Amino acid sequence: MRHALTAILAAVSLSSIASAQTAPETPAPTPPAAAPAQSEIGAAVAKDMDGLMTLYRDLHANPELSLQEVNTAAKLAKRLKALKFDVTEKVGGTGVVAVMTNGSGPTLLIRADMDGLPVVEQTGLDFASKVRTKTPEGVETGVMHACGHDTHMTAFIETAKLMAARKKDWKGTLVMILQPAEEVGKGARNMLEDGLYTRFPRPTHAIAFHDAANLEAGVVGYTPGYALANVDSVDILVKGLGGHGAYPQTTKDPIVLGARIVTTLQTLISREQDPQDPAVVTVGSFQAGAKHNIIPDQAKLLLTVRSYSDETRAKLIEGIKRVSRGEAIAAGVPDDKMPVVTVQDEFTPSTYNPPEFAEQMAGLLKGHFPDGRVIKTPAVMGGEDFGRFYRADKSIKSFIFWVGGVPADKMAASASGQVTLPSLHSPFWAPQADKVIATASEAMTVLALDILKKD
Ligand SMILES: [Zn+2]
Ligand SMILES: [Zn+2]
Repeated sequence: MRHALTAILAAVSLSSIASAQTAPETPAPTPPAAAPAQSEIGAAVAKDMDGLMTLYRDLHANPELSLQEVNTAAKLAKRLKALKFDVTEKVGGTGVVAVMTNGSGPTLLIRADMDGLPVVEQTGLDFASKVRTKTPEGVETGVMHACGHDTHMTAFIETAKLMAARKKDWKGTLVMILQPAEEVGKGARNMLEDGLYTRFPRPTHAIAFHDAANLEAGVVGYTPGYALANVDSVDILVKGLGGHGAYPQTTKDPIVLGARIVTTLQTLISREQDPQDPAVVTVGSFQAGAKHNIIPDQAKLLLTVRSYSDETRAKLIEGIKRVSRGEAIAAGVPDDKMPVVTVQDEFTPSTYNPPEFAEQMAGLLKGHFPDGRVIKTPAVMGGEDFGRFYRADKSIKSFIFWVGGVPADKMAASASGQVTLPSLHSPFWAPQADKVIATASEAMTVLALDILKKD
């Protein structure tokens, strides 16, 4: 999950989600025993739980940054080999592709992401990460699985194990992938560019989950249609003519011009965007100048831009360029000093759950967890590069869902305003991992067995 998701996710409380379906005061139900045909998977997961928590704690204590997931990949590749998957390492950098063929049938891609974040962990857990490293920019940092990708990998390994042990119950091909660099929007693209769909069986279906810091532990959330947003990073270099602060008439002040640009950018959303088609333009950084009495030569603005459709994305980027240039003209900046607008390469495309397939998958999960804990959740403005696997071939039936990780008592305390829940990417994010892992392992296996079911 990319950065700005965290705050947005945090803003969506379980009660606000639940209010669409039930009274807000209704506490999230506790799961009763699943139906007999389904409880076999739940029981198998429960039996494996001790080992899974050992794996989880190990992954949590040893996180690696994006594009550096070397030990994580090696460790998990070994497990997949032991389960008799045909394993290829170093796909798109540190990616792992594990294939299991089992007769003719659909090809299902199951994906987990591996990277941690440059965050100094402050959860106080006894297996908290103490890892320290330097970012590619040379900044000293801690490393933490603050987005919960360690829960993703643990449930992924359990799903692999359960599927390998049930080959008689399904047919087709499993392509289980461990993806690097989700947090920087590069991992899915790197794996696709390294032949994920040409060197390996091309998927007909793709599934993944993400832990959620705004849903009670064990609750499953799903969003038909657009689930997560296009995420663009845009830089605006505002050029001016520097000079003495006491003689503004001899300058073109890039700070005043930058301020005008920031203000006018607000109208891209408030006046030009269809209110029914959500989008975000946030200026997260405005850097200029060094001293009280000097008008600088330039200012730099850093923006995050969010949208769902490609048309809206293009319109916003065009609007940012138009506003920047228009304000510079209004300020009398010469032609050769027009603002330079750069859309960064670090783009995460929106994630789309084809609605019919999403409802079908949600129906299966509701059948497996017959206690009302599978709920429809609103789309978010965060990003996830899982969307690339569908965009690379839109015939693929693709589905990503949420698994809540907030302990019930914290959820209740938050609902009554006693505490503020940490979001994803927070140094305090400590999901109730056993519940996330158990729920996700069951959910992924139930979906996989149905997608690959025998006639
Ligand atoms: Zn994230
Ligand atoms: Zn994430």
